Amino acid sequence: ILSAQSPYEIATGMLQQIDRLIAADRIGVVMFDFGSEEVIPLALKIGSIAQPGPLASIPLYEYPLQDSLWEGQFSHVDDLTMLSELERSPMTDRWGADGMRSYTIFPMLIQGRLIGALHLAQETPGPRSVEELSIARELTDQIAVAINQADLNARIQRHTAELEQRVAERTRELAEANTRLQELDRLKSKFVADVSHELRTPITNLSMYLHLLERTTAPRKRSQYAEVLNTQVTRLARLVEGILDVSRLDLSTRNRVAFSPVRLNLVVEQIASANRPRIETAGLTLDIDLMPELPDVWGEPNQLAQVVANLLNNAVNYTPAGQIILRTGYDERRGNVYLTVSDTGIGIEAEDLPHLFDRFYRGHQPEGLDIPGTGLGLGIVKEIVDLHQGTIVVESTPGSGSTFTVSLPLLGGRS
Ligand code: ADP
Repeated sequence: ILSAQSPYEIATGMLQQIDRLIAADRIGVVMFDFGSEEVIPLALKIGSIAQPGPLASIPLYEYPLQDSLWEGQFSHVDDLTMLSELERSPMTDRWGADGMRSYTIFPMLIQGRLIGALHLAQETPGPRSVEELSIARELTDQIAVAINQADLNARIQRHTAELEQRVAERTRELAEANTRLQELDRLKSKFVADVSHELRTPITNLSMYLHLLERTTAPRKRSQYAEVLNTQVTRLARLVEGILDVSRLDLSTRNRVAFSPVRLNLVVEQIASANRPRIETAGLTLDIDLMPELPDVWGEPNQLAQVVANLLNNAVNYTPAGQIILRTGYDERRGNVYLTVSDTGIGIEAEDLPHLFDRFYRGHQPEGLDIPGTGLGLGIVKEIVDLHQGTIVVESTPGSGSTFTVSLPLLGGRS
């Protein structure tokens, strides 16, 4: 049963009882705090009974802590003013100065542990009766038990409150996790819907042109249809490729891919040389400007290679003529490594900019151009950059070109 009484209230109640049963001009109930080395007054009778509440505590060394207390024995002196130098303490001096003569102190023990004391004083010197001493002793034991119980209760209550708070916190965390999962679930459903939608067009086209092909005998028409079929198959293949990339990324987000120090220049060089033939066939020039001794970034090499590949791929696709520049550098002020991919291509219209990194989003193209794509490339880039705690920005002037800048935190910047 939890009692709501504080140690102060318990001590005051006991002190009233003592006052009724024993003649004393002064009574004090105190607790010892050996941690902070203080004596905490719980209840005092100085003339009248007072519950001190948070009264100023007394330093432990000012207190008469006789050896007998530790052994569970009370001690009594007939006259405080007759104490030897060794027996005196600032407290006995104070009580003596206040006119007290006879003085008795009883230890409060819990399983042999000294937790406090009761002391009594009289203005008249002399011994206490055996009867009084045994009553005082009995009451002191009771106070000790009650205070100990109150202390225990307070600790249980504190512990319960802590537990309740932890449960509340955990509940809140779970609710948040649930919201996140619901959001993920919603995104997943949207992705599936988007994928089905995107797949439907090439498949419809395929069956339509197959149908036409079957029904046509004119060789010129037939080869025209075959060409359309070819284009649609390529588009379908590209879509499936992109969708696989996206789901691989989803998996790695969930499984926390292993990061390691990555030499970004090396990644850029590999992707550049793999794409050079295609770029030159398209009549474009590729310039590479890599900062020597670029610090390593903290990342996953295959994912970073995909970022470079997708950006370069777009630069090639959306640049009818001119130049592509791959550049790396180190921004000392921001403490990150960056990669820029610039082109002299068609550029991006302002209204496309906010959606560029959305899955399946495709921007407007100038009249007459029909550049194939899936709208997945930049979405994948953005997700990888986010996984690396980096940023991506794009600057573009429609008609004259675009620059994508990816910034990645340094090796030391990992969290
Ligand atoms: P995709 O290129 O397959 O359409 P992306 O996600 O890679 O898909 O790009 C989304 C859109 O951003 C493209 O449709 C295009 O409009 C625009 N875009 C991306 N890169 C460039 C670029 N280098 N120059 C011009 N437009 C670009």
